Amino acid sequence: MPSVYFQTFGCQMNIADSDAVHQLLAERGFVLCDSHVDSDLIVVNTCSVREAAEKRAMNKIAEYARRKKNRRHQKLWVIGCMAERLGDGLKERIAGIDTVIGAKQMECIDDIIETQYPRDRSSPAIFRKTAVTDFVPIMRGCDNYCAYCVVPFVRGREQSVPYESIESTVRKKIDSGIKEITFLGQNVNSYNHDGVDFPKLLKRMTRVDGLERIRFTTSHPKDCTNDLIDVMSSSKKIAAHIHLPVQAGSDRILSLMNRKYTSAHYRNLIDTIRAGVPHIDITTDVLVGFPTETDAEFRETLALVRGIRFTAAFMFAYSPREGTAAAAMEEEMAKEEKLARLSELIATQTEITREIYEKSVGSEMDVLITDRQEKRDMAWMGQDAGCKRVLISCENVEAGMILKVRAVRSSGMTLVAERLLNLN
Ligand code: SF4
Repeated sequence: MPSVYFQTFGCQMNIADSDAVHQLLAERGFVLCDSHVDSDLIVVNTCSVREAAEKRAMNKIAEYARRKKNRRHQKLWVIGCMAERLGDGLKERIAGIDTVIGAKQMECIDDIIETQYPRDRSSPAIFRKTAVTDFVPIMRGCDNYCAYCVVPFVRGREQSVPYESIESTVRKKIDSGIKEITFLGQNVNSYNHDGVDFPKLLKRMTRVDGLERIRFTTSHPKDCTNDLIDVMSSSKKIAAHIHLPVQAGSDRILSLMNRKYTSAHYRNLIDTIRAGVPHIDITTDVLVGFPTETDAEFRETLALVRGIRFTAAFMFAYSPREGTAAAAMEEEMAKEEKLARLSELIATQTEITREIYEKSVGSEMDVLITDRQEKRDMAWMGQDAGCKRVLISCENVEAGMILKVRAVRSSGMTLVAERLLNLN
């Protein structure tokens, strides 16, 4: 049987795309290989969001291309955002790449694969995800053009998947053992297809039997409506978690970033969400060192982070991306200054996260068991109804069970808990 090795960089959308390619290759007889050395095909799924992510992918691709010279049968595919951005120019930069498939071509990926590996109609699909959680992309692309972001250029305009197709995908996943679905989109809460908007989609999904928990990411604050908050508060199936990137605390910087909200609007939104969904985990993205950001403006970001108290945050130092509005702005600050701001922010948020986890000790929570801890007997990992990772040691447990537990201690970004009862 031919074998395929995947290397996936970037966001959950890329993980979902790699899974989709894996599924289509499995339908053509491919088995998954855990080493690039022995595989017939290497697929590198790339990210363009930051310069560092592109460099990492580029280095890996160059390494695979170099080694591949001694393995004549081996093929190397580069897919995803960097493939979209640089196109076939990648083949000129790195000799040895066989196929480049950009992110916008994911819609016709089956046809592209068919030209190289025709499906043997008699061979059954053999790829089955064993996990109990999975991703379902429901919209692609982004119309927002945040000044620093390359996504609208590499992923194109927003396009929502028809509701019927989403429901059918979800039902198939439930039939294969999936309990929790995370709906994905660059701007997931702007989903809208034929009058079904995002709150309506969530509402309908809560009625799907066998779907125990629903998550979604990434939401844009400007599309976070009262209807969305209402639907989140109306069903325990929808996780009490929202990832809502704020990016900065200064209104001048938010405006330069083209984020389309002010820090006051963002704070009010958080108050409304917390009033509607008590105990919700709110996580965020923050970008420091945007062109012309002053120290005082950075302090506004720190103050916002301290005031809101996010459960966790992804924090980055700005790096220019070719073709974006921010790349044309002057006054990019010294790297050392950006990194110093980033360190201060990370230290602040890490302390807040630690305090929030500590405060959870003693509370009861419903945990979906997701996977076994290989190195420890009877130890299982799961996630609560928010976004906290929970470790439980007990007998007669398996992935997919939902347990009521009590957190007994906090260890970094994990809660250690004891089982109270089984809920399913
Ligand atoms: S909302 Fe902004 S940051 Fe997010 S993908 Fe769209 S352009 Fe990029």
